[in-house]
Amino acid sequence: MSTFRFRALEATLSRQPVETTAPAELISDYFGENVFNQKSMMEFLTEEAYESVMEAIEQGTRIDRKIADQVASAMKAWALSKGATHYTHWFQPLTGRTAEKHDSFFDPVGNGRSIERFEGDQLVQQEPDASSFPNGGIRNTFEARGYTAWDPTSPAFIMGGTLCIPTVFVAYTGEALDYKAPLLKALGAVDEAAVEVCKFFDKNVTKVNATLGWEQEYFLVDAALFNARPDLVLTGRTLFGHSSSKGQQLDDHYFGSIPDRAAAFMRDFEAEALRLGIPVKTRHNEVAPNQFECAPLFEEANLSVDHNQLVMDVMEKTASRHNFRVLLHEKPFAGMNGSGKHNNWSLATNTGVNLLSPGKTPKTNLRFLTFFINTIKAVHDHADLLRASIANAGNDHRLGANEAPPAIISIFIGSQLTKVLNDLEAEVKGGKMTPDQKTDLKLRVGRIPEILLDNTDRNRTSPFAFTGNKFEFRAVGSTSNCSSAMTALNTIIAKQLQTFKKDVDAIIQRDKVKKDEAIFQVLREYIVSSKNIRFEGNGYSDDWVKEAEKRGLSNVKTTPYALGAYLKEEVLSLFEEFNIMSRVEVEARHEINLENYQMKIQIESRVMGDLAINHFLPSALRYQNQLIENVQGLIAVLGEEAGREAGAASISLIKEVSERVNTIRKAVHDMTEARKKANAIEDMEAKSKSYCDAVIPFFEIIRYEIDKLELIVEDDLWPLPKYREMLFTR
Ligand code: ADP
Ligand code: MG
Repeated sequence: MSTFRFRALEATLSRQPVETTAPAELISDYFGENVFNQKSMMEFLTEEAYESVMEAIEQGTRIDRKIADQVASAMKAWALSKGATHYTHWFQPLTGRTAEKHDSFFDPVGNGRSIERFEGDQLVQQEPDASSFPNGGIRNTFEARGYTAWDPTSPAFIMGGTLCIPTVFVAYTGEALDYKAPLLKALGAVDEAAVEVCKFFDKNVTKVNATLGWEQEYFLVDAALFNARPDLVLTGRTLFGHSSSKGQQLDDHYFGSIPDRAAAFMRDFEAEALRLGIPVKTRHNEVAPNQFECAPLFEEANLSVDHNQLVMDVMEKTASRHNFRVLLHEKPFAGMNGSGKHNNWSLATNTGVNLLSPGKTPKTNLRFLTFFINTIKAVHDHADLLRASIANAGNDHRLGANEAPPAIISIFIGSQLTKVLNDLEAEVKGGKMTPDQKTDLKLRVGRIPEILLDNTDRNRTSPFAFTGNKFEFRAVGSTSNCSSAMTALNTIIAKQLQTFKKDVDAIIQRDKVKKDEAIFQVLREYIVSSKNIRFEGNGYSDDWVKEAEKRGLSNVKTTPYALGAYLKEEVLSLFEEFNIMSRVEVEARHEINLENYQMKIQIESRVMGDLAINHFLPSALRYQNQLIENVQGLIAVLGEEAGREAGAASISLIKEVSERVNTIRKAVHDMTEARKKANAIEDMEAKSKSYCDAVIPFFEIIRYEIDKLELIVEDDLWPLPKYREMLFTR
């Protein structure tokens, strides 16, 4: 075995188990202990400041400077009592992960004395240099400076001795440079629009929160084996590797007993997450070997997004203590399931109602139908934007690859609700309804909760599925910041609900009918006009691809093309109308996403070329030389003819190696030329499309040949850990 690979395997196999540091106490004893939550606020804040912060959280009001000083002072006291020494504004730049710059509380005051200082000014605003974060050209047009501003709706927390304050990150000229700023605006927009619609049913509703429960999938790989794979280290996925003889075909991993080493890791990262107030609740093995999932209870969407960003960070940090590496990539291993991040989404009122949960009376069920059908209509009208919101280089491997929802956006609602919608469509007619019709409808609507009680329909192949009391957006990628999908979804829902309100009011005016009748009529129109997006069958099938095409649904398979939806006039004006993002901001984001895609593919292509030429080809040639020696030896011993006959197998392998090596050499050369051409393109959209169309096709050619070589080259000579070693070595 190559010494490199041998050392990696040896390191792995000789590992001592890592003791878990998870506490033995009850979770409820330490849950949220590192969060400046309501409990610690009550303890450390004056009543006035407490009320003010709570109002900001619940009603979105501003916190004035005087109160900010009080909050800062309380936060400092709390943080110092927990042993914190530093503070940071924690934000989510468009790199996709989180950023922080730590400052010490320590402040010299002369005469060799010092104090711990943290005031309202430092809490409310900081000025990190924006020029090193992606800004999509905003920096060129405007100024390089940016600032972070406190988001009081997400509580501060302590991680690694640092007080972290969740913030938005904006350019000095006001353009958002992060994920949080547009998300908060989209959540505000959906709140406003949903409250208006709720008033049709209940005047007491004054606030509607979008709720999000994500499910994070990931792989664990031993750190030594990970480090022996330059492709994993540099790109997060394996660019080569023949599938293992045993993969996931026995279905023996899903929900199986969690291996001890993985379980110890989970206990540790979950304990840390729970201390940070993240309500992680569920863990299980996923379909592929060494693939797992972690899911919390759902929370208000902004908080939930922060918690997901934090969890990814905590997982990575904890993993290295356990000599693991966490793979968050959407497709770390070919031929095996990839990882997603289902976004379970709903809307909740301040009166404690889940708007996507059918109630007990016809009235509450009409409310349910209203939000349910409006969601379908919104997704129907803006499917391309939703598709764009989940586009990234990694997710291109999942969507449409027969193991994840296809790139076609459709909605699954189950047979029972399909019947409800079909009946409504048939029964509601324009104009005034007869009393009989009304009674009929009420009865039908009244039956919804019973129907849903035994609605166990699940469709794993749908990108957007109704699951009883929420929708599950299943096409989100495992590395993604959920904000991108949540901003798009909540914006289109806001727009749709606003339209609905207008449509209902117009019918009440026009036809002089009661509110309920008007609602039914509008809903019926939506049922009809959004029917195309509903699909109950197998989303993985080829038939669906054909059927979707007939229906006129988009099937955009790759990122640079999918992202184009952001620049459609209707999308630009939608974001503008709700003051979520200006044109400049959307265009900048589009540019950043394209650039990110292009750079990822460029890195993958380089790594691929390097490994092919300086890792795999030399191994293959060394093996070929052994074969040549073997044949020469046989000829020396047996004579030319008999030697060749005896060495027939070696001779055929020698030829096969030569053919494959030559194909690889040529493909790497051609790929490099394609890259050069793409690099010369100025326009980012054209450039990333060139990477997609002209560079990526070589990946498959090169990989195919190398994976074949892996099967014939002597195992000792193979330079990188194989799939079976990474996926099954415990
Ligand atoms: P699965 O989808 O795997 O069958 P569940 O339906 O139990 O599992 O829940 C999955 C996720 O959905 C959990 O993270 C849960 O918190 C979340 N969830 C449940 N109700 C809501 C809701 N009203 N809004 C948002 N997320 C929710
Ligand atoms: Mg789920």
